[in-house]
Amino acid sequence: MTAHLPSWQKDLAAGFSNPEALLQYLKLDFKAYSAQARDDFSMRVPLSYAACMQKGEPSDPLLMQVLPIADELNNPVDFQDDPVGDLAAITENCIIHKYQGRVLLIITGGCAINCRFCFRRNFPYANVQLNTQKEGIALNYIRGNSTIHEVILSGGDPLLLSDQRLKALLQKLSSIAHIKRIRIHTRLPIVLSTRVTTELIRILNNLPIPVIMVMHCNHAHELSEQVITACLALKQPNITLLNQSVLLKGINDNAQVLQALSEKLFTTGVLPYYLHLLDKAKGTAHFEMSQIKAIKLHQKLQQVLPGYLVPKLVKEQQGEVAKTLII
Ligand code: SF4
Repeated sequence: MTAHLPSWQKDLAAGFSNPEALLQYLKLDFKAYSAQARDDFSMRVPLSYAACMQKGEPSDPLLMQVLPIADELNNPVDFQDDPVGDLAAITENCIIHKYQGRVLLIITGGCAINCRFCFRRNFPYANVQLNTQKEGIALNYIRGNSTIHEVILSGGDPLLLSDQRLKALLQKLSSIAHIKRIRIHTRLPIVLSTRVTTELIRILNNLPIPVIMVMHCNHAHELSEQVITACLALKQPNITLLNQSVLLKGINDNAQVLQALSEKLFTTGVLPYYLHLLDKAKGTAHFEMSQIKAIKLHQKLQQVLPGYLVPKLVKEQQGEVAKTLII
């Protein structure tokens, strides 16, 4: 059935969607997950990502990012379905136009991995994501607004598009005279590194305008040898590689872990860019770290890392004209 698919799509199909199967693979107690949390937001974990987890370790920092647990069912009132006001900023069906000079295109609602802390875990993708009809409307919107200089492909994960579809879209966008660069927000090179194919690299490197790939890596353990190889292959003249992380309680909320992440990212050819405070999405409260603690943590990072390896500490606030720089 899948013989004709590219190998990364076969890897995608081979991932874990059943928490019990993942826990069995990791030699952990079957009961360590919540079926209700899984029903609220399904579990999805690529096998290559699970392979980076420590077997027999329930507090593994990668496992904690993907396992549905009962803590997700505790919802303080300030944790909401649309924590950063995306829906209010949708101007055309699949375009979010919040910031001056930039628009964000919701390419797909799908991801290779379902991160439990995701700020769009409750997002109504079915109504918003790109399709053929919406693509025409979106491109017309961008063509008709010469103040837009950068298009951000987001989702879900835009690299889930086939090479063919991605290439066609990128070529249309880069042919618009006032578009100066294209940014791709993706977690795929980190969680499903086989997606970084020679063809993908060729497509991105041959575009007439620069590509900025903003990856999402939260912990140095995510940077396996295969991931490092994929990222180094992506390091091409037309492609700038940046990383954004989310500060997650119990996962990367200490200076040593973040220092190790920044240093390993650098050897991977990726510069740390943003360290986000958690967006308050319903189901994610147990990951929250206070802003005061985050500032102290960031100050420690400044003491142990050169400036270019210290990500900016930011948060997103509804209605603001840019990300709010905390430090
Ligand atoms: S890959 Fe990104 S969009 Fe997808 S679940 Fe994770 S954080 Fe959310």
